[in-house]
Amino acid sequence: MRLKKFLLLFLLVLFSSSSGAYAAAWVNFPTSWDIGQAFAVSITSNADYSNPVVTWMNRTINLNVEQGGAGKISYGLLGSDVRNVKPGKYKILFEFVQNGKKYKASGNIALKARKYPRENLSVNPKMVNPPKKELPRIKSEQKLVGNALRTMTTQRRWTTPPQPPLANITLTSQYGKQRVYNGQPRAGHNGADIRAVTGTSVRAPFAGTVILTGFHYYAGGSVYIDSGNGVITVFFHLSEINVKQGEKVAKGQIVAKSGATGRVTGPHLHYSLVLAGQFVDPIPLLSTSITQMLKKGTQSQVNNI
Ligand SMILES: [Zn+2]
Repeated sequence: MRLKKFLLLFLLVLFSSSSGAYAAAWVNFPTSWDIGQAFAVSITSNADYSNPVVTWMNRTINLNVEQGGAGKISYGLLGSDVRNVKPGKYKILFEFVQNGKKYKASGNIALKARKYPRENLSVNPKMVNPPKKELPRIKSEQKLVGNALRTMTTQRRWTTPPQPPLANITLTSQYGKQRVYNGQPRAGHNGADIRAVTGTSVRAPFAGTVILTGFHYYAGGSVYIDSGNGVITVFFHLSEINVKQGEKVAKGQIVAKSGATGRVTGPHLHYSLVLAGQFVDPIPLLSTSITQMLKKGTQSQVNNI
């Protein structure tokens, strides 16, 4: 009787230790980064886990659990917007569930200022201070754009490096450049302007779903594509839009033709990358991968059960 009880207890201990044996998880993020530049984060574990999320700049980003890393991995692409983020330390929080228990891991990322250039532009005065009758239109477009940029879907459809949107990437105005329109300073440039004659094919950098299209007052012909985990691609000043809202697009698919619509001084493609609401520089990402980016981060252990 006594032996039986002992055996049962021993088996229970064995069972509980084998089910959770050597389960360990780690998070990876950079401790210091430049404002305006994208960075990579990850959660990885040698055992299964669920519900991975990362909270950054007041947004909670749903991640996926995939094969990779120490066994399972969740990838995130984050950044900070040159137009409104000040240098300083910002909290990053990771959460996930493993063996029925919720784990949290947090740290700080020191964001440093980067020197971006300044540019003086002369444009039609109507475009600097729009006529009163255009204000309702501008307001309703801002609302549509705001809603589109809050899109948060879980399935990761972005894979690195992205497909360059144009065959030739020659910048005419880089991300972060502070623009002065007819003497009035404005916020830094929230994307990269790429040289392109009107009618040049524009390709989707990532697979995704078209969440908004339209011909807007400032941005002209616009396409917004959601690729999951808060990753959104934006194109402006298009002459022609070849996709519809709600349509799924493949990586590299032609979605539009470049042009000179909206507030422009000449034909070009405006290309923005938005990461959980933060507009970041899309260009450095074109020549790197998530794996290379993660090597610039610091890995720390969350649990060991
Ligand atoms: Zn631009």
